[in-house]
Amino acid sequence: MRTIFPSPEVIHGHRPPVPVARKTSCEPIFSTQTANSLAMIIITRPDATEEQIQHIVSRVADWGLRAEVSRGEMRVVIGVIGAEDKIRQKPLGAFPGVESVMPVLKPYKLVSYEFRGTASRVKVGDVVVGAKEVVVMAGPCSVESEDQILSIAHSIRDSGAKILRGGAFKPRTSPYSFQGLGKVGLQLLAEARRESGLPIITEVMDTKDLELVAEYADCLQIGARNMQNFSLLREVGRTQLPVMLKRGMAASIKDLLMSAEYILSEGNFNVLLCERGIRTFETMTRNTLDLNAVPVLKAETHLPVVVDPTHGIGIRDFVPAMALAAVAAGADSIMIEVHNAPELAKSDGEQSLLPKDFDDLVRRVRGVAEAVGRAL
Ligand code: PEP
Ligand code: MN
Repeated sequence: MRTIFPSPEVIHGHRPPVPVARKTSCEPIFSTQTANSLAMIIITRPDATEEQIQHIVSRVADWGLRAEVSRGEMRVVIGVIGAEDKIRQKPLGAFPGVESVMPVLKPYKLVSYEFRGTASRVKVGDVVVGAKEVVVMAGPCSVESEDQILSIAHSIRDSGAKILRGGAFKPRTSPYSFQGLGKVGLQLLAEARRESGLPIITEVMDTKDLELVAEYADCLQIGARNMQNFSLLREVGRTQLPVMLKRGMAASIKDLLMSAEYILSEGNFNVLLCERGIRTFETMTRNTLDLNAVPVLKAETHLPVVVDPTHGIGIRDFVPAMALAAVAAGADSIMIEVHNAPELAKSDGEQSLLPKDFDDLVRRVRGVAEAVGRAL
């Protein structure tokens, strides 16, 4: 029988090993990936001493396993991850100060709420996401010029935004649409950060650009179209930079959690999850913003949850209503596209708020945040 494609042996069999040169910024910190990994959680007694906790952590490390210590209000939870056969042999319940030990049975282990037993906080620059304060991220879809990004950075900061967004590498449906300014866009973002004091979030689309984007970004964005680009997920997992992972437009909530697990499994726990709307049969809006995902994610994972109502509904006039609803639903952060001249925008002008409308929105977000026990 004639084969069109060579068998895998032919493809891989004679290939010499490829040396992987990697700069320090992307050096793996700790990889937990094994074919058969198991996660166990050790719940300590409320009266466990710091000495007992440190004893557990150092023993676990001696065994070649990873321990992730989470300090809740009542007690300390120690998540342990490593090869299943190795973990199973260890008498984790025998340490003084331990109340109980149990396996994480869900397919997503490191991202599951029980692995930490408390909500995670992720720092973007000096801004903390996942605490009482709802963090507003804002900026244009794409970085287009120095005037544009500086003007928008100043106005959103004055309105109360804490993180500046802007794409330098743009994933566009058409190859003929504006693809972003690339490195120049990153340099303009860095200038806007210097001028405004706001940390920046920007998208990385490809592993080949990661080192460059990581030099500039305070937070890496992985776009909806790349949510299941597993090599990119692994690579960003080998940095310690915060990563905002956007839900794919045809991805379930579980798919999103499994993708996040790739990042954590490489050692990077600084992950934000972003609901940005999914494709449904509805045609009156760009996407359907799935606010169901907010309480579900808050229950299933310790990772902070961001909502992007701009891409979620895609129509400027309706963005504020969905932004308020996102905060009411429990979002830790919202991301809003803002443009000083939306009619001239190179991407997503139709869904971008004018600075004055954004200013009004932040005021209303503050009211909703306070009504649900948060702050702004
Ligand atoms: C964006 O944030 O501009 C963007 C391209 O988002 P998404 O990946 O959610 O489409
Ligand atoms: Mn956009």
